[in-house]
Amino acid sequence: MLTPQNILKTYWGFNSFKEPQEEIISSVLQGNNVIALLPTGGGKSICFQIPALLKEGVCIVISPLIALMQDQVTNLTNKDIKAMTIPSGSSQDEMITLFDNLRFGNYKFLYLSPERLQSKFIQDKISQLNVSLIAIDEAHCISEWGHDFRPSYQQISILKELQPKVNIIALTATATPKVVTDIANYLKLDDVTVFKKLFSRENLAYQIYFTEDKLYKLKQIFTKTKAPAIVYVNTRNKTKEISTYLNANGFKSGFYHGGLSSIEKKIAFDDWMNEKTPIIVATNAFGMGIDKPNVRVVIHLNLPSSIENYIQEAGRGGRDGNKAFSVVLTNNGDIATTREIQQKSLPDIEEIKQIHKKLYQHFQIAKGELIEEGFDFNFLAFCNKYNFIPSKTFNGLQILHSNGIIQLNNDFHQKSTIQFLVNSAQILRYANKYPTKKTFLNSLLRMYGGLFEQAVKIDEFYLAKKAGITSWTVIEILEKLQEDNLIEYHKATNNSELYFLHPREDDKTINRISKNIDVYLKLKYQKTEELIRFIENNDVCRSVQLLNYFGEKSPKKCGICDVCLQKKSTVKNISSEIIELLQDKSALSSKEIYEQLSFKEADILINLRNLLSEEKIGLSNYNKYFLR
Ligand code: ADP
Ligand code: MG
Repeated sequence: MLTPQNILKTYWGFNSFKEPQEEIISSVLQGNNVIALLPTGGGKSICFQIPALLKEGVCIVISPLIALMQDQVTNLTNKDIKAMTIPSGSSQDEMITLFDNLRFGNYKFLYLSPERLQSKFIQDKISQLNVSLIAIDEAHCISEWGHDFRPSYQQISILKELQPKVNIIALTATATPKVVTDIANYLKLDDVTVFKKLFSRENLAYQIYFTEDKLYKLKQIFTKTKAPAIVYVNTRNKTKEISTYLNANGFKSGFYHGGLSSIEKKIAFDDWMNEKTPIIVATNAFGMGIDKPNVRVVIHLNLPSSIENYIQEAGRGGRDGNKAFSVVLTNNGDIATTREIQQKSLPDIEEIKQIHKKLYQHFQIAKGELIEEGFDFNFLAFCNKYNFIPSKTFNGLQILHSNGIIQLNNDFHQKSTIQFLVNSAQILRYANKYPTKKTFLNSLLRMYGGLFEQAVKIDEFYLAKKAGITSWTVIEILEKLQEDNLIEYHKATNNSELYFLHPREDDKTINRISKNIDVYLKLKYQKTEELIRFIENNDVCRSVQLLNYFGEKSPKKCGICDVCLQKKSTVKNISSEIIELLQDKSALSSKEIYEQLSFKEADILINLRNLLSEEKIGLSNYNKYFLR
């Protein structure tokens, strides 16, 4: 007989469940409605995927992001489990075929966006399906109190009308009490079992450091910790700047942000995963699907935008259960700057109206018109054309997206193409002149046909592998060949794909959703204030503060955050630790002492001064302290 355990082993190759996966799965199999609250990386997907495999029919999964859906479909397909999404832009005919496949092709999973679910056609088709289970992933999107509110999530309960007998499982990593109540209410789950894994991460040390010299502190951290790390910053430019700075100081790092082309993203990600560059400096675009177990430190050089985001980002450290650090570097100016940046980057209703109107104008869409196919959308070109501030415009588009006015797919994969502009004899001559490029040109010609006749899609990774060089080198060579007028090279774009979901009505559209927008903006401001309160509160254990925020009543102190350590240090006597250290090491500079002890630099300096005046230690000509 097939059991959840068998399936886990056969399809996933894991020997045991993580707590509380097994309880959740068995509750779902009993037909209960379930809300599962597990931290990011806690293994939520399996909680609906395994029951679905044990039941007859198709499991409908609602998920907010195209990329997340595609990721999961690929993962399932690789395990020989049939799963599909409905690609954006599918025609009605194509959808009829897709649903026929679903009904008769032994499919186990259908992934849908909440917007898709609002289509009458799709609703009809769903009511005819044999549905095994309804899974709502990232269910916090239903709540205005969640950090990714999506109004269309509030319409999901239509699934209950279409399939009244099927039970529902809602999953999220956000467990604030308000969000949980909203999930139950909006999904109309009267009889619901809630499973909650405690959010405490005992191996994660939260540390908030006040420092006026963040870069120096950064260097200091990496001198101590030689292990995979993530540094979060708040602008795209800074990712590159900081990464350059780290490399110049001998710390190998790469950078990542939403504006990189898909290939550049993949390179940065791969180099980090295989630890060629163990440090990655990134904006919060670096997040989804990161499951590297041995990240030892996550550093925020700027304040995160909410406690929810902070938890998610910090939570990428120490997945393997070993100790990891989450460090926020901050200074007195930070809080004011954060408030100011937020003020500047959140559009008001009038600005949203402008962005919205210009978007339709940009693509020459007439009043009342709705164009169904997707547009290739270059965000920066759009901002430049209308003189819009990018950060504000970005948020404006997000608001339009989450209100179902447009659909914006940011991780739109387009392959690079090349075409030769000269004939093969000229290529040969060039190859002989530049022997370093000869092997590469040979493998290029061998791998792709038709390069002389038309633009051909190529894959820089595959080429690199075949030619035995790095992907960066492939790009460099291709760019050089283009410069020398041998080829035309279109590097994979970082454009987005844009769909209009509403006919153009200009201000009318925005007026209709203005209440949602108001709520959204207020909430954004509130989230920042909550984060600031957390940063400023150095009386209560960081972990306790976070767990309280997520509704846990009386959590334990962690003993390893900056607040706990500071309390310990006043008790434990820093001086005696310094003396102990000097017994081992004979002579050390104050910096070296600081690097070896987990106390604040200022506290160490005070204690050194005291020890000096008590003549317990001395200071050498080289500014090193020694025991008398
Ligand atoms: P979440 O959605 O909660 O963030 P995922 O479902 O994406 O988490 O799972 C995170 C990772 O944990 C995945 O790589 C998954 O394969 C792994 N995982 C899930 N369950 C188990 C298990 N029982 N044993 C080992 N690894 C697991
Ligand atoms: Mg998930």
